[in-house]
Amino acid sequence: MAKRVLVTGAAGFLGSHLCDALLSEGCSVVGVDNFCTGDRANLAHLKTEPRFEFVEADITKPFDLGKIDYLFNFASPASPVDYTRLGVETLLVGSAGTLNTLELARKYEAEYLHASTSECYGDPEVHPQVETYWGRVNPIGPRSVYDEAKRFSEATVMAYHRYYKVNTHLVRIFNTYGPRLQKNDGRVISNLLIQALSGGPLTVYGDGSQTRSFCYVSDLIDGIMRLSKSGEALPVNIGNPVEWTILECAREVLKVTGGTSEIIFKDLPIDDPTRRRPDITKAKTLLGWEPTVSLNEGLKLSIEYFRNASRVSA
Ligand code: UDP
Repeated sequence: MAKRVLVTGAAGFLGSHLCDALLSEGCSVVGVDNFCTGDRANLAHLKTEPRFEFVEADITKPFDLGKIDYLFNFASPASPVDYTRLGVETLLVGSAGTLNTLELARKYEAEYLHASTSECYGDPEVHPQVETYWGRVNPIGPRSVYDEAKRFSEATVMAYHRYYKVNTHLVRIFNTYGPRLQKNDGRVISNLLIQALSGGPLTVYGDGSQTRSFCYVSDLIDGIMRLSKSGEALPVNIGNPVEWTILECAREVLKVTGGTSEIIFKDLPIDDPTRRRPDITKAKTLLGWEPTVSLNEGLKLSIEYFRNASRVSA
């Protein structure tokens, strides 16, 4: 019999792509979201899908939608602009929300996969970042509402695994982009693409020498699906190991869009990590996974979605 899977954060960027992947594997999916940063439009194409059910709910309050076989916990504001705006909500979803969802997994003996993050590494001294690195996170800075909530979640997931024998998985997600990324959440790829497509200046924070490694959404979902079927409970990095300075990334966006905008420099946000690059040796060996879409190709695949976005915001 096909599995009944619960996805929290189902109306979000990754949650909605995950729902699609699970449905295409024959699962029945129950999506939950409170639309604090999610968007109904991300699920609009599933309106007539009989195996998809949507429930509007806030997972920081206990909830129970019946027996499930698997739970993917993807609910949280995720861009620096959103989680600093919604600081307390972010702390709550990453603490009470994680506990509530783990209780459901425990009750129904469901498997559980939690969306963790490269932010667990903070501003890292170890480069590229391996899963065994404990990180360097400022516990009281503006990013702490997200970073510490995600670190608390990892501790909680491991505790349910150790004490209650819940079959859990932790994916540490690095910067990801593609269609359905929120248009106004201030992230670098969405900002740069919308700016380039609408002819406005491209905003680079600081001198643009800080680095990130950008994974296209289809690669990321493939990695997560593989991890969900593995026996691994310890964290696994999923991300694209090709590292870009933000300035190089802005130039790549101009190249792909054919844009001629100027690049302007703005203040670097507090505690903005200086570098980020996943060591994906574990994912390669354990899951036989590695990304296949380059930044150039991924940006091309994203243009249409962001072109519509730049029209709407213009
Ligand atoms: N950034 C930028 N211009 C923008 C938005 C972001 O230069 O319009 C920078 C930001 O300071 C950071 C990097 O791009 O160094 C990635 O930022 P994002 O908000 O996408 O995610 P983060 O990796 O910081 O969580």
